[in-house]
Amino acid sequence: MSAKYVFVTGGVVSSLGKGLAAASIGCLLESRGLRVNMMKFDPYLNVDPGTMSPFQHGEVFVTDDGAETDLDLGHYERFTHAPLSRDNNLTTGRIYEQIILKERRGDYLGKTVQVIPHVTNEIKNAMRKVSANGADVTIIEIGGTVGDIESLPFLEAIRQMRQELGRENTVFIHLTLVPWIAAAQELKTKPTQHSVKELLSIGIQADILMCRSDRPLGIEMKKKIAAFCNVEEKAVIGALTVPSIYEVPLGFALEGVDSLILKYLHMEAPEANLTEWKALVDRCYHPKDTVHIGIVGKYVEYEDSYKSLKEALTHGAVSQNLKLKVTWIEAEGLESKFPEDRSYESQLEGFDGILVPGGFGKRGIEGMLNAIRYAREKQVPYFGICLGMQTACIEIARNVCGLKDANSSEFNPASPHRIIYKLRELLGVEEMGGTMRLGAWACVLQEGSLAAKAYGGATEISERHRHRYEFNREYEALLTGAGLSLTGTTPDATYVEIVELPGHPFFLGCQFHPEFKSKPLEPHPLFREFIIASYKNRLARLASESSETPSLTSTMSS
Ligand code: GLN
Repeated sequence: MSAKYVFVTGGVVSSLGKGLAAASIGCLLESRGLRVNMMKFDPYLNVDPGTMSPFQHGEVFVTDDGAETDLDLGHYERFTHAPLSRDNNLTTGRIYEQIILKERRGDYLGKTVQVIPHVTNEIKNAMRKVSANGADVTIIEIGGTVGDIESLPFLEAIRQMRQELGRENTVFIHLTLVPWIAAAQELKTKPTQHSVKELLSIGIQADILMCRSDRPLGIEMKKKIAAFCNVEEKAVIGALTVPSIYEVPLGFALEGVDSLILKYLHMEAPEANLTEWKALVDRCYHPKDTVHIGIVGKYVEYEDSYKSLKEALTHGAVSQNLKLKVTWIEAEGLESKFPEDRSYESQLEGFDGILVPGGFGKRGIEGMLNAIRYAREKQVPYFGICLGMQTACIEIARNVCGLKDANSSEFNPASPHRIIYKLRELLGVEEMGGTMRLGAWACVLQEGSLAAKAYGGATEISERHRHRYEFNREYEALLTGAGLSLTGTTPDATYVEIVELPGHPFFLGCQFHPEFKSKPLEPHPLFREFIIASYKNRLARLASESSETPSLTSTMSS
């Protein structure tokens, strides 16, 4: 059987949720027993998003093989079982890098190297490589919006793919916006018409239109769009804004997207089994209670910077039938004005759990240390991820072991107590360039630890990394003497991966990023356990508050 492709493009405006739509299509096809693979092309010139600011580009999603990729790959992993690696996310920068390398090597034998055919061939080869991975259907998302200059080579490549493979092996899905115009009290189809026309002008006739709108598209509206945009009536899909993203695949199923794709691709598959997704959405919409987590970080104004983190917390909460409430706290705002200033405490009261996520650079560190001190002293569940583990170790070194200058060499290279450092720093080796520890690393768990229990008694796990600095084992004796347990290390014991404070209801820091491996239907064990502990803390706090209230009333009535 020839390889089958679904191409997803976007029109009208960006931020319509193309990645989520592509992931939901993948989810739906998997629910029909098909194996899917997913891929995204990003038209910008950066070679990968690894060096881009989280404020501009959102989170950098890391795959097992250590690729730093676009956050849409996070949606793909959470919604499907597609095996993702560095081959599944390519930018214009990466494509050109490959071509220029070949050109310098003389691979083009003196020919003029051009966008067509050389760039488009490189793009098509990348698609074929991913689809050769044993998938029944490969879903390919083209980043950007139709009409962007940068997207053109990618759109030309998918046009050629249809020419080469035929209609029965390729489907073009175009995501557009159908805005509600308050003055006219109407949904408007014109932007969609223009976008479809723009696509047609470069040789691509959309097969399926996914129309994002805040209100349901009526049958008349669908008829109109179908007539003007030259698609079947049932190929006009309403992509209604819904409260939970996990409902998106279910909405698409109701609109018959899966059957339509299968019809266009001349494929047959069993009926969809979406039982687990339905149960998940049901739990999301009928929570028994709320759990409130305070996240103390530095990129808090832009939620996309912590996309996977928010998702993983939600997965943990939904698994316990709880609604997740998150308060984002700017770490800089928790800094002390003078040595014993504890005024930050008022900002930390009332959270069921506190979390310090990953981050780079020294801004806000002192505020994170205060938040960790608060959680440690007040017995509030604390979860530290990557930077949040490093700062937890520094906090204990400073406030329990009395090393006032304890720090990471990232924030103060001159610190006499570099609790966190670059392993090779001590050897005097100056590292330059790509020095991050990236991707999957094995971690051995200490028997009986909180981590080992969370992972269901596993002795070895694998998690993903993205950082430069490490725990300095020269301070191990001091910190363990103060009560810290090192409960996870790499199998060769070089790197410390997990630290815990036994005796505290939940105090755990991990050097890796567990959020990258959490899925709605497979919540990550550490997030699940953190939520469980936080909810326990909530119930205990509420119980103690209500036991205080009657005594007050009894005093009044007596
Ligand atoms: N800045 C720290 C390091 O590079 C932590 C990185 C992170 O949290 N991802 O080691």
